[in-house]
Amino acid sequence: MRDVPKLFGSMVFNDETMQARLPEDVYLALKKSMAQGTHLELDVANAVANAMKEWAIEKGATHFTHWFQPMTGITAEKHDSFISLVGSSKVIMEFSGKELVRGEPDASSFPSGGLRSTFEARGYTVWDLTSYAFIRERTLYIPTAFCSYSGEALDTKTPLLRSMQALDKQARRILKLFGHANVKRVLATVGPEQEYFLIDKAVFLKRPDLIYTGRTLIGARPPKGQELEDHYFGSLKPRVLKFMHELEEELWKLGVPAKTKHNEVAPAQHELACIFNTVNLAADHNYLTMQLMKSVADKHGLACLFHEKPFVGVNGSGKHINWSMATDTGINLLEPGDTPWENAQFLLFLVGVIKAVHEYQDLLRASVATAGNDHRLGANEAPPAIVSMFLGDELTGILEAITNGGHYEHKAVKQMEIGVTALPHIPKDITDRNRTSPFAFTGNKFEFRMPGASLPIAEPCTVLNTAVAEALRQLADTLESAEDFQSELASVIKETFQKHKNIVYNNNSYSETWPKEAERRGLLNLKTYVDALPVLISPKNTELFVRHQVFTEAEIHSRFEILLERYCKNLQIEAATMANMVRQEIIPGCIGYQNELMQLLMNKRAWCDYDSTLEDHCLRKISKLGACLVKKLDALDQAMLSAKGERDPLAQAKAYRDSVCSAMAELRLVVDELETLMSDKHWPLPTYGEILYSVN
Ligand code: ADP
Ligand code: MG
Repeated sequence: MRDVPKLFGSMVFNDETMQARLPEDVYLALKKSMAQGTHLELDVANAVANAMKEWAIEKGATHFTHWFQPMTGITAEKHDSFISLVGSSKVIMEFSGKELVRGEPDASSFPSGGLRSTFEARGYTVWDLTSYAFIRERTLYIPTAFCSYSGEALDTKTPLLRSMQALDKQARRILKLFGHANVKRVLATVGPEQEYFLIDKAVFLKRPDLIYTGRTLIGARPPKGQELEDHYFGSLKPRVLKFMHELEEELWKLGVPAKTKHNEVAPAQHELACIFNTVNLAADHNYLTMQLMKSVADKHGLACLFHEKPFVGVNGSGKHINWSMATDTGINLLEPGDTPWENAQFLLFLVGVIKAVHEYQDLLRASVATAGNDHRLGANEAPPAIVSMFLGDELTGILEAITNGGHYEHKAVKQMEIGVTALPHIPKDITDRNRTSPFAFTGNKFEFRMPGASLPIAEPCTVLNTAVAEALRQLADTLESAEDFQSELASVIKETFQKHKNIVYNNNSYSETWPKEAERRGLLNLKTYVDALPVLISPKNTELFVRHQVFTEAEIHSRFEILLERYCKNLQIEAATMANMVRQEIIPGCIGYQNELMQLLMNKRAWCDYDSTLEDHCLRKISKLGACLVKKLDALDQAMLSAKGERDPLAQAKAYRDSVCSAMAELRLVVDELETLMSDKHWPLPTYGEILYSVN
């Protein structure tokens, strides 16, 4: 039996360890800087660094690294050892406060979206005091923010931290109106659910498309997919279970609260959920989770896929973000209360979120845009690209009743008075579930279901925090200047819901009628990445970011450029991979099979009277498809060439989305049909069946 409480966080320089290892004055100074976001004095930093080094060396570490999150979608690290030369032949282990607090990696090879041309190439990494250092692979990891010489954010962490500040500031204004002057901080809390596929590594290595792009670019449907619904919550296979146990142990050591695991809908698909945490920790932890999933999988001879749609015909992978706001005193602001007064506060925060999602639906959509998510949103396993909210009948009923000044009749509790001074008791269990909504209220939090499995959660969380901060700012402005708070509160809740209730949709978001209804309501349907991305830099959204100091105008423009460029590169890689696979593997495979058939046919003809209908039939069909294949391959080459030639980045992205994607789809149709005609022996790639059922 493992002692899990002892194991948990054992590789983290957390509060307990700090308290045990730091002199009291140093500990208190560090805690103060952590709480207030102020700089560490050099002597404090030196003392912390020294204690950290001693602790790390005891745990076997020899190196340290500033761990950061550039705009590549993955994390980066550069390792330094602790050694320092004494004389010419001796070393001692050293780690200074300066090295702990600040690093200086060369920023010139990370995406900066034009920020580099105006600013120096140097970049800085700065310790994020709110996230603890930890040890992995004999290395002390220091979570850091990454910015340019002049302080422009070059990562996903910095804007997230800024958005947390914005939300904190505005939410506390509201709380103050309700008499909670003692609240020192309001924090966004997030519990992410990570979906992934697990396949055999040997099979993975035989598929260039999986290696280079994370998804299969060709492959005919297997005889059995997910139609029998026998995988979801099914019993875990021994090999998968072994992987999961080791993964959990590694995560627990790093203080990542991995909690729930189960099989997902598609064959070979699984999910891991963590207990919620402050959003910046949840974001760091999610990065760590994804990295550990990959490395632990590797140890077990497995490959872990985070692409949003690795296989057509079966479900893709999402990353549900459960989001709420909590005070440092431990109150969840989206928890319906026990008294009418608490409920008024709850309803105000609730309409704040409704307003935020309605007004910034475009940004929320853009925040989940990845090339991969274009294949997932609106397919049958994920919400459409239209942002809407689910509140459930109960809560919608209450808000409708308040808005109409009427009575709301709860099923169990009869005839209650409505009005903010006499609000109904809101039953705790109002979670009639809706699995199809992109943004669903689930009792005391929202579940944002649009993000795809590969996306760092920092990006959508930054937008969500900022949008809600803005909604709360406007509500606080009105309420602070009210003569009679209570009556103004009632009308603010009423008017806000009235104005924004078009975003609330409690029915099936997967239905065919919803896009029409959404259009009637004036909701946006930004179907693809390229449709969604430009909203990042619209005047309305730039103003939002600038007002709350989450992005400067230059920063948000740089992000737009980086993301557009990333999309084009992703598609370029996909198209080139596909063309190569067809040329180097499919065509030779086809030729080999045809050659064998032709030999047989010739032999039969030479020896007179054998019936050769079968060979003749196969040969004819394959030859015909082969001609088609060449045509489609040429068309793909052409489409790639002309997309590459586009100068304007947005026009280029559109060319990739329109002509390159459709050329790939047409080529795939031919290849997939060929696969069904070929002999297994001559088909050069593992099939869908072989991949999806590769782990036993
Ligand atoms: P289910 O959706 O199956 O009912 P849970 O209610 O346990 O599951 O929660 C799902 C996820 O939501 C978990 O990751 C959980 O930690 C997270 N969660 C629960 N409460 C909050 C909260 N207040 N803020 C953010 N996430 C939360
Ligand atoms: Mg799920």
